[in-house]
Amino acid sequence: MENSVDSYGVPDATLGALRTSPDVLSFSESEMRRLGYLVVDAVVDHIQTVDGRRPTSMAGDDVLTSAVAGPLPSLPSALDANVAALVEVTADYQQHDDHRRFFARVPGPSSFPGILGDWLATGMQSTVSAWQSAPGPSTVEMVVCQWLSEALGLCGTWDGILVSGGSMANLTAIVTARVCNGPGIVYLSDQTHISITRGLASIGWAPEDIRIIPSDSAYRFDPGALAAAVEKDVAAGLRPSIVVATTGTTNTGAFDDLDAIAKISAANGMWLHVDAAYGGPAAMCERGRAQLSGLRHADSLIVDPHKWLFQPFGIGCLLVKRPGCLERAFAMNPEYLADLADGGVNFYDRGLELTRRARAFQLWLTLRTYGREALAGAIDRCMALAEYAQHVIELNPVFRIVTPAQLGIVTFEVLHLTDAGHADVIKRMASEGFAAAGSTVLDGRTILRLCTTNPRTTTDDIRETVDHIAKLADSAAVTMLRPFPTLESS
Ligand code: PLP
Repeated sequence: MENSVDSYGVPDATLGALRTSPDVLSFSESEMRRLGYLVVDAVVDHIQTVDGRRPTSMAGDDVLTSAVAGPLPSLPSALDANVAALVEVTADYQQHDDHRRFFARVPGPSSFPGILGDWLATGMQSTVSAWQSAPGPSTVEMVVCQWLSEALGLCGTWDGILVSGGSMANLTAIVTARVCNGPGIVYLSDQTHISITRGLASIGWAPEDIRIIPSDSAYRFDPGALAAAVEKDVAAGLRPSIVVATTGTTNTGAFDDLDAIAKISAANGMWLHVDAAYGGPAAMCERGRAQLSGLRHADSLIVDPHKWLFQPFGIGCLLVKRPGCLERAFAMNPEYLADLADGGVNFYDRGLELTRRARAFQLWLTLRTYGREALAGAIDRCMALAEYAQHVIELNPVFRIVTPAQLGIVTFEVLHLTDAGHADVIKRMASEGFAAAGSTVLDGRTILRLCTTNPRTTTDDIRETVDHIAKLADSAAVTMLRPFPTLESS
């Protein structure tokens, strides 16, 4: 059969598809407003009710399957009902990192300005890739990076970029350090976050060029051991390249001695990267400032606003002291982007993403709305909550503090429980759903850990959670008990 064509020579097959409505994916203005407020209501309901829910998630394969699974839908369905289905699967079937009694791993208490900024970024569909594609949102990102460097007490202008979180920020930093300081040996402590080792592996850093230095008795990077390791490598004809320090380790909140590490780094021509993903925001308040002094020595550092700056998840920041290093590592000039190349900062030249969302909006709105003092006060309260938890734990003789409250983290053990007993307490706590605590391993022993980064947590929440842990420990199975020390074993 012959294909018919119109007077421009366009065949029927093409014209047929063009006869459908261009509005096929659109909603009317009134529907958009009505449906949009459904989501607003769902989020405000969540904020109002989250503390009355379980902080931990429930098992629910059947419910989840009937709510959201099935074959790829071929016909339309009502958006109201579909929004309701998503609310249902998130209400009880996820951990609530923003719950007042969520103390596991690193909680994620968000803030309403942060949520609104995230929505705006999504709705405005900005692409913060080239200066010319988004001079407005690019300016917001530059301002936010500058504000973050001020919050951390840094002087001057550091080059910055926002990425999805700490892991991506660490990876971006390592790549930058290798390009700008050359290959060689990288030095970590045994408390360095796993994202660094995973990042090194993913860019093919040879395992034999990675030194993991045992931390000191307070789980900090041991500068003496670092100096010795560097000296040994230099004597063997190897080249030290990067040292990674941490201010606010994930396990204990320990902060490395940046002054001492920076001296060793500078003396050996190394790049000092500081992972302040977790602890960085504590530099904003008096209680944390001293512990984070020395950040200025870093060649690069990261901070994760979605950990302790009250942000929706998906925002980490890398700051680099020397201008132009990020571009040296990541700049690219594909032919189809040449039209956009001139102008100010092209963020696609500072990291691995090309099409980038406007991550800065949420943090800009948060910093601008609350201002520094209110945020510093909230962080200070969180640090004081960990100190309060330490006192409560110390009052109960079944517990022993393993590491004191540092940057919002306290670790402790139950004297009569084995490693399995500690893990079991956390598991039973999660299944009861009163509070969420976590375990970690230090010196090969499983212990308990509370991270108190939610300023809405009350002292009652802390006391009741510690009492709850004590009760669970008291009812532990006999197989979970440590053997009594005997004269021969003591
Ligand atoms: N660095 C530190 C010190 C962390 O505590 C974490 C996460 O807990 C990360 C990096 C990784 O951050 P993200 O989970 O945002 O990738």
